[in-house]
Amino acid sequence: MGVLQTAKGIRVITTIGEIKEVITKVKRQGKTIGFVPTMGYLHEGHLTLMRKAAAKTDFVVASIFVNPLQFGVGEDFEEYPRDLERDVRLAESAGVSLIFAPGVAEMYPDGYGTTVEVTRLTDRLCGRSRPGHFRGVTTVVTKLFNIIEPDIAFFGQKDAQQAVVLRKMAADLNMNLEIEIVPIVREPDGLAMSSRNKYLDPEERKAALVLSKALLLAKNLINSGARNTADLKREVTGFIGREPKARIDYVDILSFPGLEEIENVSGQVIIALAVFIGDTRLIDNVVLEVD
Ligand code: AMP
Repeated sequence: MGVLQTAKGIRVITTIGEIKEVITKVKRQGKTIGFVPTMGYLHEGHLTLMRKAAAKTDFVVASIFVNPLQFGVGEDFEEYPRDLERDVRLAESAGVSLIFAPGVAEMYPDGYGTTVEVTRLTDRLCGRSRPGHFRGVTTVVTKLFNIIEPDIAFFGQKDAQQAVVLRKMAADLNMNLEIEIVPIVREPDGLAMSSRNKYLDPEERKAALVLSKALLLAKNLINSGARNTADLKREVTGFIGREPKARIDYVDILSFPGLEEIENVSGQVIIALAVFIGDTRLIDNVVLEVD
């Protein structure tokens, strides 16, 4: 099965050959292509990227692919939530023209042997906790860029390190496209939207607020004059530690977008967190401009 079509006309293509044919036709018409890569189970964060893409480009492609290469051993590749039918409806309502939803064998056929790796920026934060994760991301995104040939690709600030790594990859490899980063979309109570929020039971859902609250605490401390990163990290770690369902993976404060270690916050900095709530690993961050 290569092509599905909904009543309203959005197409779902599962093979690289067929999507390349469509892309060639769209380009021949002189249309610009916007691209939103996702792992599906769409939420308002993804839809915001898609609406932005629809506002800025003529033809929006979204990919839905749970990429095994970016999951480590013991991570949630198998359990990752999937619901293509619902995703297609939501993407269509957000202005997407075409969905690319390949299977694993289409992207990584037998004998597949090439990876793409960004160094240095990937050896900290999530790169340290999830070895090989960013190699999986940069490899699949390179393949998707080569297949879709977008003019602009849209990514979320929710995955701030991913955004920085992909911009570096695109610059270093002279990729012919723009990368646009879209701010984090949050639930009304502050929790950053994520497909993984589905894993949280009601008690964990409440406990998960500790991430956004911890970022707010750090922001308030900085606004009232705190500058030393070690002190700030200690405060934030202590705050999260008081939530019994939380287990810290990392709390870090780095320069942004360089992701360098800093002794004191000044200029543009990122406060980034990864915290397990029960078995669910959640990430969140805030970028601040500090005098
Ligand atoms: P994912 O399906 O989790 O791989 O995410 C696909 C894209 O959506 C990535 O560029 C994410 O950074 C972005 N994204 C996910 N959650 C959010 C959010 N809450 N706000 C903004 N962008 C998001």
